[in-house]
Amino acid sequence: MKLKTGLVVEPIIGLEIHIQLAARTKMWCGCAVEFGKPPNTRVCPVCLGLPGALPVMNRQAVEFAVLTGLALNCKIAPVTKWDRKHYYYPDLPKNYQISQYNQPLCIGGYVELKADHKIHKIRINRAHLEEDAGKNIHDLADCTAVDLNRAGTPLLEIVTEPDFASADETREFAVQLQRLVRYLGVSEANMQKGQMRFEPNINLKITKDGREFRTPIVEVKNLNSFRALHGAISYEIQRQLEEWRQTGIVTETGNKSNRGWDDVRGVTTPQREKEEAHDYRYFPDPDLVPLTTDRHWVTELREHLPELPIPRTERFISEYKLSPPTSRPFATRLPTPRK
Ligand SMILES: [Zn+2]
Repeated sequence: MKLKTGLVVEPIIGLEIHIQLAARTKMWCGCAVEFGKPPNTRVCPVCLGLPGALPVMNRQAVEFAVLTGLALNCKIAPVTKWDRKHYYYPDLPKNYQISQYNQPLCIGGYVELKADHKIHKIRINRAHLEEDAGKNIHDLADCTAVDLNRAGTPLLEIVTEPDFASADETREFAVQLQRLVRYLGVSEANMQKGQMRFEPNINLKITKDGREFRTPIVEVKNLNSFRALHGAISYEIQRQLEEWRQTGIVTETGNKSNRGWDDVRGVTTPQREKEEAHDYRYFPDPDLVPLTTDRHWVTELREHLPELPIPRTERFISEYKLSPPTSRPFATRLPTPRK
């Protein structure tokens, strides 16, 4: 977008999405995955992180992750492994999360979004399996309570390349992704239940008098609705432009940081400097063997993929002569700042 001041501002936006998979049981134990049950009633020694308890992989969760990867046009890794990601927090009883660091299950896919008769190709960097943490409950009078029913719930993390240019486009992708996982039957993706959560990372490329400036990347954590996703990105674009105007801060002089979203005030607020991968002390989980994905099994899953939402829409348009859904072009103007 070109501003009156002669500045050209291009938002660069990538997205991480966490999706709880609708497996019957947790990722590493037989506890039921159920929402809204009395606190700490869906737990066992494994998901409580008690000494000596050993994890056993959930086949259904792996199958759901592979199905999603295939639908996102990813390659399914022939061999993948499990890593421990260390951090300390009361809702993480083991003090590490089992995740996938450098050998994710699904690699390099894409999604094609259509708007304004143009196709926007959004590249998928990776999708990997991990486990959800429990929940800290802060709204009690004099203490914080910890509910571990959610700890160990299978979670698929999808990471896109920074291919979005606006809040509209990012939201459209999120809407399509929700439809996709529901079509596949791999997740309810109900945002009120926290089954789908977004973390956009945003910065700006600003061109002024032929010189190029890039603002430091901000990641907005834990957004629970399409509205919050859109609002946080719009706000950040405006805030970063303003901050650059006032301080001249760029990637070379400022660090990446995390911010939270205040839904009531409609603003992002600073959290902490972002961790780097080495802060997490990743290493392969010695309790779990690497996972080999059988080629025949993957082929079989691919053959059983249902017709996906975007191709189905196109087929309905050509076969039944339906009019295409009215789509607006993605906004290219700067959103107006909220006061
Ligand atoms: Zn358990």
